[in-house]
Amino acid sequence: MAEKFDVIILGMGPGGEVVAGRLLKAGKKVAVVEQELLGGECAYWACIPSKTLLRPPEIKGEATRAFGTGTPELYVEDLFDYRDYIIRYLDDSGEVEGYEEMGARVVKGEGRLVGQGRVEVNGETLEADHVVVATGSTQNMLPIEGIEDVTVWTNREATTTREVPERAVIVGGGANGVETSQWLSRLGCSVTLVQSPDTLVNREDPQVGELIQGFLEEEGIRVRVGRRAEKARKDGDGSAIITLDDGEEIPTDVLIITAGRTPRVEGIGLESVGIEANKKGLPVDDHCRVEGTPGLWALGDVTGILLFTHVAQYQGRIVAANILGGDRKADYSGVPRVVFSDPEVAATGLTEEQAREQGIEVASVNLDMAASIARPVTYEREPRGNLGLVVDRDERVLVGAWAVAPQAGEWIHQACLAVKARMSVDILLDSVFQFPTFSQGYLAALEKMDL
Ligand SMILES: Cc1cc2nc3c(=O)[nH]c(=O)nc-3n(C[C@H](O)[C@H](O)[C@H](O)COP(=O)(O)OP(=O)(O)OC[C@H]3O[C@@H](n4cnc5c(N)ncnc54)[C@H](O)[C@@H]3O)c2cc1C
Repeated sequence: MAEKFDVIILGMGPGGEVVAGRLLKAGKKVAVVEQELLGGECAYWACIPSKTLLRPPEIKGEATRAFGTGTPELYVEDLFDYRDYIIRYLDDSGEVEGYEEMGARVVKGEGRLVGQGRVEVNGETLEADHVVVATGSTQNMLPIEGIEDVTVWTNREATTTREVPERAVIVGGGANGVETSQWLSRLGCSVTLVQSPDTLVNREDPQVGELIQGFLEEEGIRVRVGRRAEKARKDGDGSAIITLDDGEEIPTDVLIITAGRTPRVEGIGLESVGIEANKKGLPVDDHCRVEGTPGLWALGDVTGILLFTHVAQYQGRIVAANILGGDRKADYSGVPRVVFSDPEVAATGLTEEQAREQGIEVASVNLDMAASIARPVTYEREPRGNLGLVVDRDERVLVGAWAVAPQAGEWIHQACLAVKARMSVDILLDSVFQFPTFSQGYLAALEKMDL
């Protein structure tokens, strides 16, 4: 007979973990099913190792750009050792034990739905009132002719490498591509970053992509925007030539694919509950219920909604609250979107173009922070920083913001709150910001606008 649970969680990345933790705390009988490592992509091959790899090169960059400091040396072996420690040497036995101690049944294996409230794993069927699909996403493989003949890395090989290749071609100029370019380049790799849209980080305002491109190029990264990698071929001992659509040939040791992620919807038995995924992922309503299927929930990358860990965790809180009898709806306004480059890229809410498409009467500004506030010049010799704001002129509320500036990933949260709360710009204009901080940019930017 199938073992019966209150809830089965399929996939234990950051989203699944939040649901599991909350439901276990509430005394529910929970089974968690994970085919690889508890903690998911984020903990072992994505957010955590990439931010760890970025940190020492960032300090080196900051020290070099400051004044009265030398340039610190990077100890690459120590960096990789620390990264290995922080990704737990790809060993989740401590996590498995932790969940078991909290009362969960942990099943390691590839699970799939076999009907409403039923999941099959390792030949065993588990039953529950609720099933939460949190299976995440995988890296897309690009249709590059000859790709099978050359050394290819995805985020997995990049974030766990113990070698810095001499040369790398990185295809995909979103957050992952920009971050990977920068830490690899600062560790001594000669990097070319290829992006088929016309700007980097192209979901943001084009000014954002142009600014970060300038900073990457300044430190020697070759950026090719509006270009596609078309062909790859072997070129002697372990090296390769990548040909772009304009005929440019780039010699490299490794081809790193960072463009696009696919929600993991294949092979998880959606047909057994009569559900079809769409191109974006598994469709959910604002309660994170899989549309039309009682007792089935989904969250995180598999839903295709804003592929970030903090969004997966937020949806995890929504799902847990609703399973526990609540009526919580997800609201994605004011979600931060950060690239942990140096300087950081941060944004929230609508871009100017999106606001106009929604019929909003827009007022916008791009503030040169060094020319307007004191913090940039006290921070580094060649001060950097731009802040963009998008205001709904009729409603007098902030609807979007972006920044390319030091620590922008921290101070963007003021804009996130203002966008989410639909806070009047008059409150921001009457606010007192600490002198001298980057946050003072909000006041300076608003005062420059004709509102
Ligand atoms: C290089 C890189 C850097 C990133 N950096 C950041 C960052 O700094 N900040 C940020 O917010 N986001 C970042 N992201 C995005 C972030 O990693 C994802 O948004 C996040 O991991 C999504 O969480 P999740 O729980 O939906 O899925 P995942 O973390 O993908 O976890 C899903 C889990 O489900 C398991 N699974 C899948 N199918 C099955 C099955 N059939 N049976 C059992 N188990 C299954 C998988 O093994 C996996 O463990 C980054 C992504 C990449 C690639």
